[in-house]
This record gives sequence, C-alpha cells and structure tokens, in this order.
Amino acid sequence: APVLMWFRRDLRLSDHAALTAACEAGQPVIPVFINDPLVERLGAAPKWRLGLGIGALAESLEDKGSRLVLRRGDALEVLQDLIAETGAAAVFWSRLYDPDSVDRDGKIKETLKDADIDARSFGGHLMFEPWTVETKTGGYYKVYTPFWNAVKNVGVDAPRATPSSIPAPESWPHSDDLDSWQMGAAMDRGADVVRPFVQLGEQSAQARLGSFMAHGVAGYKDNRDIPGMDGTSNLSENLSLGEISPHQCWHASQRALDEGKAGAETFLKELVWREFAYHLMHHTPRILDRNWREEWEAFPWNEDARKSEVWAWKKGRTGIPFVDAAMREMYVTGRMHNRGRMIVASYLTKHLLTHWRIGMEWFEDCLIDWDPASNAMGWQWSAGSGPDATPYFRVFNPETQLDKFDKNRDYVGRWIAERKSSPHEDALKFFEAIPRHWGMKPDDPYPSPIVSPSEGRSRALEAYENRDF
Ligand code: FAD
Repeated sequence: APVLMWFRRDLRLSDHAALTAACEAGQPVIPVFINDPLVERLGAAPKWRLGLGIGALAESLEDKGSRLVLRRGDALEVLQDLIAETGAAAVFWSRLYDPDSVDRDGKIKETLKDADIDARSFGGHLMFEPWTVETKTGGYYKVYTPFWNAVKNVGVDAPRATPSSIPAPESWPHSDDLDSWQMGAAMDRGADVVRPFVQLGEQSAQARLGSFMAHGVAGYKDNRDIPGMDGTSNLSENLSLGEISPHQCWHASQRALDEGKAGAETFLKELVWREFAYHLMHHTPRILDRNWREEWEAFPWNEDARKSEVWAWKKGRTGIPFVDAAMREMYVTGRMHNRGRMIVASYLTKHLLTHWRIGMEWFEDCLIDWDPASNAMGWQWSAGSGPDATPYFRVFNPETQLDKFDKNRDYVGRWIAERKSSPHEDALKFFEAIPRHWGMKPDDPYPSPIVSPSEGRSRALEAYENRDF
C-alpha cells in the first residue's frame, strides 16, 4: 500500500527524514501538497513565493520519475480522500511548530491512527527540537547566549542524501493545476519586479550555500552588518520553505570553520538565533500576537494601522533615508537586510510609538522569507516587549546608524531615487512595483522627516517614563 508524503514547508529532496523513510518503506510513494486554510491565509508575498517553491519541487520530483499531487481543502479531509482513492496505509510529514499547525497536525495524527493509518511526523525543520533544550532546572531558555551555550556542542545530525529513487504508484491520483490556485493573486505589487530577486528551489539554495562558504563566510562577521554589501548568506527564504535544511548549513559552516574561516562561527550563531526563535514560539506561543512581557499590554501604543504616519512608514516616505531605503528594499526584493529590519522596527515602535504588531503584519505581507517565529521574535526584540530584548530606552538613531553602517551611502543610494539626477535602477523599480494610488513618483521632492530622530526619541522616552508599569 502506498505512502502519502505530505509536503508543507520542507520543499526539498535532500536531507529529508520523512521522504527518506517513505522511500525506504518499500512501497510506492505519493507526494502531495495541500492548499488548506493555513496556506490560504498566508500573506501576499509568502504565499506567492510558496507557489513558486511548490512548482520547483514538482519539477524536481518529476526529474526523479515522481510527481507532486496538488489538492485543495481541509487537510484531514484531503488526506482521507487520498487514502480512499489510493489505498495508502501511511502518511508521513515533517513537523511544524506554530500553534495552528501543531493543533491541525495533532488532530490529523490522532484521527488517522484511529483508522489504522501509520501517521508519522519527522524532524528536519530545526536542528534542535524545542522541547529537548532545557535549562538546569528543567525550564526553557529566555535568553539567547545560554541557549547557544546549551546547544553548540550537542551535535547536529549529518545531512541525509537524496533518495536514489522515489518509487512511483501504478497510477496517479488526480492533481489540481498549480496555476488554478492563483498563489500570487494578492501580490498587487508587480510580481515581475520581485521575481528576479527570488532564489528559487533546492538547487539554487545549495549553489548559494556553496558560493557563500567559498567566498562570503570568511568575512561574514564584519560584512554582515553592512546593508550596502552582499555580505550575508541570503538563505532565509530557502530555510523558511525548507528548500535547504539548517543541518546542511550547519555542517557546511563547520567545515568552513575547520578550514580556518573565522566568520563561520558567527554564521553558526545566526543559525541558532533561528532555533532560539522556534524554542520561544514553542514554549510561549503568545509571542506571535501578544506582548511577551505582559506588562507591555498597558503601553499606550498607537494601534491604528490607517494612521498617516504608519502609511508613510509602509510606503518608504518617512523622510528618514535609512528607514525609507529599507522599506523600499523589502517592497522590491521581498527581503530586507537585518540591519534595516532592526532600524525600521525601532523607528515604527519608538519614534512613531506604533504597536509592533502592525509592523509585524506588514512584514508578513511583504517578505518572501517570512517566518512566523523569527518575525515575531525580531519585532518584540526591537520593540522592547520580548524576551532578551533591547531595553525600550535604547532608541536607535537612524542618522548615526547610517554613518556607522552605510558610510558611503551605497544602501540609501541604491534604494532612494528622489533628488538624484541618475537614480539607481533598483531605486526606480520601487516606483514600478507600487500601486498607482500611492501617488509617488521618482522625481517628487524627497519628504522631510515626519518625525525627526531627536523629536521621536524624546517622545518615546516620555511615553516610557509615564507608563503605568
Ligand atoms: P544570514 O545573516 O546569512 O543568517 C543565516 C540564517 O540565520 C538566516 O537565513 C536566518 O535563518 C538565521 N538568522 C539570522 N539572523 C536571525 C535572527 N535575528 N533571528 C532569527 N534567525 C536569524 N528572519 C526570517 O527568516 N524571517 C522573518 O520573517 C524575519 N523577520 C524579522 C523581523 C525583524 C523585525 C527582525 C529584526 C529580524 C527578522 N528576521 C527574520 C531575522 C533576520 O533579519 C533574517 O533572518 C536575515 O536578515 C536573513 O538574511 P540572510 O539569510 O542573509 O541571513
């Protein structure tokens, strides 16, 4: 009887525990992707990017004589239909950790097991299962450095090879046509503008990892903070969809470290920040939508997303070059440099006294590397409401940050067109991508700051001092 291999955010064939187990079962394997309500409600860019990833996975499966069966509907019902149609006796998948997926998958496992189906979940999205890392007193970690110390020598499984063959069934169940799902329907910015910036699929992710380890990782420690440089791995979109595994990145980086490339240790630490985000989401799922530090619920955040200041922030029209450059970078490329993410998040939550949730949701709509755990942790860290966060009174000054991290103005020059006689081509792409009703043109005057760094700073500190907690 066939095994159903249910793909979700593990869109690769190599180092795939569930797929390997399915292939080793000695039965036909039927790969399936289900467009269920959790997929339906993804933000515009993550959903569009997922659609591209599904297409790339389907092609890799076809190269191996297999296929990807696409179905839409409630996940349990779809699986039950497929079991009835194909006589499958097992369903395998890779674990997810956000509360809604955990809830869905738990119910599915229970129901299928009751029907004598071998329903099994496997690891692979993370190197360290969140419940396996414990403090000495048996609790979870709230601070990164002790978490790093706890995991750094644990040992990470060596990556598995790609299965040599994926046994096909005698006949294939019906599959939807991917185009009919219209995964890009909500991408009202020109998807054509974003597409060239996408690093799509397992092969490109592996190629990028290889070139980053050969040329990038040695200087990573210093270069990773300079947004005008290509100094980071750019693997987040692939990690987010499982087009590459963290284990593959970890082992490649360990080899680089053994070869004396010092930046590799910093890279290992960043991979562990991702694990830490998942650790926190597992132990405190409220990090996704409530202030992690509960006293912050009383802070007088602006919670009105329609406010003109919030719109200026979203449109990259705050008049603060570092903030605007980063917001435009995200709109055009679907990604934003980490330094930019910290600065725009600080400006929104401190200078504009706006709830981090509004920023988090905008990122969720715009990022092709959107990740529920890293996004929530990043926002709460920046806002001061999260675990191990910067204290609220430490307000980033976007002007001194510019002098420190974009000395030659390479980054703001790449993303801001106004006032330039010959703007950078990427800066102009922003104007191709934005909806017409934003009413922005490259030859508009560049706006003056909606809230200046010093005024914003004192406003934020005043609100913080007058808080009632
Ligand atoms: P590299 O510097 O090459 O790092 C390698 C990998 O380590 C990354 O791909 C990522 O998986 C992980 N990593 C690095 N830094 C972090 C971090 N601070 N937290 C968690 N993991 C990290 N990352 C996302 O993947 N998705 C998000 O939705 C996301 N939202 C963020 C929101 C805010 C407000 C902030 C401050 C950070 C956010 N990050 C998010 C973390 C970080 O900015 C990105 O992971 C990083 O910029 C991706 O670029 P890279 O792949 O070149 O990273």
